[in-house]
Amino acid sequence: MSNASLVIANWKMNGNRALTREMSEILRDNQADFKGVKVVVCPPYTLLADMAGHIYYDEIALGAQNVSQHENGAHTGEISVAMLQELGVEYILLGHSERRAEQQESNDSIAAKAAAVTQAGLTAVVCVGEDKSQREADKTWSVIQAQLEQSLAGLSAKQMARVVVAYEPIWAIGTGETASPAQAQEVHAKIRGWLVENYQQVGARVPLLYGGSVKANNAESLFSEADIDGGLIGGASLKGEEFSAICRAA
Ligand code: PGA
Repeated sequence: MSNASLVIANWKMNGNRALTREMSEILRDNQADFKGVKVVVCPPYTLLADMAGHIYYDEIALGAQNVSQHENGAHTGEISVAMLQELGVEYILLGHSERRAEQQESNDSIAAKAAAVTQAGLTAVVCVGEDKSQREADKTWSVIQAQLEQSLAGLSAKQMARVVVAYEPIWAIGTGETASPAQAQEVHAKIRGWLVENYQQVGARVPLLYGGSVKANNAESLFSEADIDGGLIGGASLKGEEFSAICRAA
């Protein structure tokens, strides 16, 4: 039986206006199959307004892939929380491993962004995960624990109630090599333990998503694990029928 109740599509730098329409229609047509599951679509910034115009039912929400930590001002090329909020964005991905690697995003800046997002009443989806060499050196938990400590630093219990944690092992992202349900559950259980230790009941309720090559054929077994509350889906979120099948498995 699946425990999952949140599935987030991360389109990354993919998609166009035609896809926002197509995806919205496919999700609308399949929605009866995934009642009770919150589905969030995070297209690139330029497609947010378009996607907002095509949302046909309540259980679909709009998400963004990044945000500035600053409120406004001289930050050329940046987008603020308020700007996203005005478009109807409810969820914001923070600290995806691609941004940590390509934009040198630090835990400190992720923490500042998480503070801005949750302060505004939006949900911050904070991503953590180890790379292959860290896993092979048995450093998985120490890497994740440090990311959690630093990326969530300074958040109050009230703000933590607006956080989702996504565990995305870097070696599983876009590679077709998924963590086994047992491997994912092992890390999720430790994340849950850490959250409860630090934030008590609020920590017990933070949704924990798994991401990394989730597909229609492996979603159900991952979502059946006790501490996996949903998925963060990259490649498979660009294909309407496959993404719907993943939502159905939740
Ligand atoms: P993937 O990406 O599903 O293509 O592996 C997941 C992610 O990066 O969020």
